[in-house]
Amino acid sequence: MSETERRPTRGRAPLPDVLALGALRRSQPELATAIDLHLELLEVQRRVLPRIPVTTLDVSPALLAAHQASGTPILRYADIPIDITSLRLLVRQTAEVLQRFGMIEDEDAARAQALGRDAGLEQAAAAWFTRSVARHRDGASQAADTGMPDDVMALAMRPFLLRCAETLQPRAELAVWTHPHCPLCGGEPDLAVLDASGDRQLICSQCTLRWTWHVDGCPFCVEGTSARVTSFATPDQRYRVYGCEHCRRYLKAYDVRRGDRPVMPVVDGVATLTLDAAAQQRGYTG
Ligand SMILES: [Zn+2]
Ligand SMILES: [Zn+2]
Repeated sequence: MSETERRPTRGRAPLPDVLALGALRRSQPELATAIDLHLELLEVQRRVLPRIPVTTLDVSPALLAAHQASGTPILRYADIPIDITSLRLLVRQTAEVLQRFGMIEDEDAARAQALGRDAGLEQAAAAWFTRSVARHRDGASQAADTGMPDDVMALAMRPFLLRCAETLQPRAELAVWTHPHCPLCGGEPDLAVLDASGDRQLICSQCTLRWTWHVDGCPFCVEGTSARVTSFATPDQRYRVYGCEHCRRYLKAYDVRRGDRPVMPVVDGVATLTLDAAAQQRGYTG
């Protein structure tokens, strides 16, 4: 059977995320717009994922120990299995979806569309990634001039980074990483999961890699390990917010002991939009 004949069959099988978003729409119809946005973004990424090869990363214990010592994420731009044709498609379609849902300005969408066709796209992707791996050292204020909003580039790069995270996730050596930024791509966590034993794992906002973080403090600021953190939960205790009293940023968490499934970063991100509003009302920022 040829590749073209196989693809439609594979395309029909719904992703677990798509099914879970459908269930969420039935239980919380007020989230319908956000759910539609994420369904469309998932569809854009799903069209490309089968074409991205599985990566091989050098993740020897010695290498991870060296990166742990310096706090430097292990992924190099050259390791990312970027297919430029797929990246062009991802940039243009992501910009189109975000514009249609009013998440980016028309001007930014037009710039992303132009860059999606431009020879400079790969250089822009490399600049975005270089900033990502250095962010923990340089701070979030160092904006890379990629010619389009970071949101578009982050979402367009996501399928390639997911492939790399799949390779690293099962490795036991990950346990040596004690930093609050992603050991693979340097991304910040935007969600955490409390596992069956109550340990907190941080989840990278860019590649969705999970790593255990044994600190009760804040992953976002220099005072993090000793920062005073205020926590509040949803009535069913399934989701929790940790707000830092030093930097005023917050992190959401999914508690698997109260849920009926493993963590699903996209779905749990949408399911907790009301928690974002509650945290922001209390003066915290995401
Ligand atoms: Zn990451
Ligand atoms: Zn903080």
